[in-house]
Amino acid sequence: MNTLGNTPTDGDLVAWDRDHHLHPWAGTGGFGSDEYMRVNTADGIYLWDAAGKRYIDGPGGMWCTQIGYGRQEMADTISQQVMKMPYASPWSFTTEPAAVLARMIAERTPGDLNTVHFTTGGSTAVDTALRTALFMNKRLGRPEKRIVIGREKGYHGSTFLAATVTGKERFETSFEKAQDLVHFLPDVNPYHRPEGMSVDAWCDAKVADLENLIADVGADRIAAFIAEPILCSGGVIVPPPGYHKRTLEICRANDILYISDEVVTGFGRLGHWFASEDVFGIVPDIITCAKGLTSGYLPLGACIISDTVMKRIAEAPGDDVFYNGYTYSGHPVSCAAAIKNIEIMEREDILGHVQCVTPHFQDRLHQIKEKFSIVGDVRGDGLLGCIECRPGLNVESYEAHVKFGQKLDDACEEMGLLLRPFGNMAVFSPPLIITPSQIDEMFDIMEAGMAQVSKDYD
Ligand code: PLP
Repeated sequence: MNTLGNTPTDGDLVAWDRDHHLHPWAGTGGFGSDEYMRVNTADGIYLWDAAGKRYIDGPGGMWCTQIGYGRQEMADTISQQVMKMPYASPWSFTTEPAAVLARMIAERTPGDLNTVHFTTGGSTAVDTALRTALFMNKRLGRPEKRIVIGREKGYHGSTFLAATVTGKERFETSFEKAQDLVHFLPDVNPYHRPEGMSVDAWCDAKVADLENLIADVGADRIAAFIAEPILCSGGVIVPPPGYHKRTLEICRANDILYISDEVVTGFGRLGHWFASEDVFGIVPDIITCAKGLTSGYLPLGACIISDTVMKRIAEAPGDDVFYNGYTYSGHPVSCAAAIKNIEIMEREDILGHVQCVTPHFQDRLHQIKEKFSIVGDVRGDGLLGCIECRPGLNVESYEAHVKFGQKLDDACEEMGLLLRPFGNMAVFSPPLIITPSQIDEMFDIMEAGMAQVSKDYD
């Protein structure tokens, strides 16, 4: 059918999406038959579906809509850059937005992380970070130092390499990844520590996991350790205090590059440009970011490399080429959007705002645990939150337990709030511009949803 020139009906759109659009992470049960909510318009923290119903965007898109929707300035900047210079090959040229943005990012990263390689999103930023580590070791004449340490429940993206180091769906994917390149550390979630164990002792155990793995595999074979400051897609897991500092020290002692994947935590989610140094007190060797960099207005990611790593690569003997890049690396329109996004965040002091509303957000989150006995744990930091249902005691409650996230999301959706369900958890990360009264609106709906869902667990 030729669709040009015809205004599609609602029925057309449902059918075309179902028949021709394979969405990411589609379950094969729904291959070709899933129906997705069609969102038509958005403003601030709200989305409207095709029927005109309004929802609070609890997940903030996919952890990315920092400055909120409907920003005229973003539209103007994007259209002006399209008319001025919509595309330039990054292999041959640079552009003003790419140069300015690289400088702006370098000014906001910790320590000596001053070199920015632009990518198309988070997965390609992670891919670049890993390739940088492998490239450095090749240049240093130790190509066997190529294994990456990832973590259970870590999520790093969907390219082959980023998926390889992702611990989250490790046992669920039905295709092999580059298994020889990766080793995983077990769960760091303090909530899952053995009964009676203190959080400090749990931290010691988690640090020991890394030491033991290095001893087993051999530091001379390990190129990098990759960690999200907070494991977000794994269920907003905040590691025990001191964990990041101690693991970084171990990496440094073993000449293993520390890659901090700040695709979610970067650009304000925790009230700072980056969480590594300002929240967790570490200066990694490489930081990856994406999402909040443009607030989701356009795709863009970045891999930010320290001067130390750059110097080691440059000063190794002989010439070589870093065979890594994308047609859209440093895309001028995406870079212009990111610059405007950062300008807006600065002008409106969005980082200060997040720091200011975080206690209220986290307080309302913790009230949910006090009010509902089916909750096993609530956790988060900044404008990141997760509710985890307590484990089921028998087969029936086990079934209900694993469906908790979906049940809560369904109940809240009815009442105008979207969440992100992950098995027995529901997570949320609203736009950073959310006001205290909108935080109340969000948690009031969540509590009403919890009251409804709790009935299924009596
Ligand atoms: N790294 C982290 C921590 C993420 O959460 C994600 C996506 O959610 C990615 C990498 C992949 O980013 P993208 O989907 O932009 O490729």
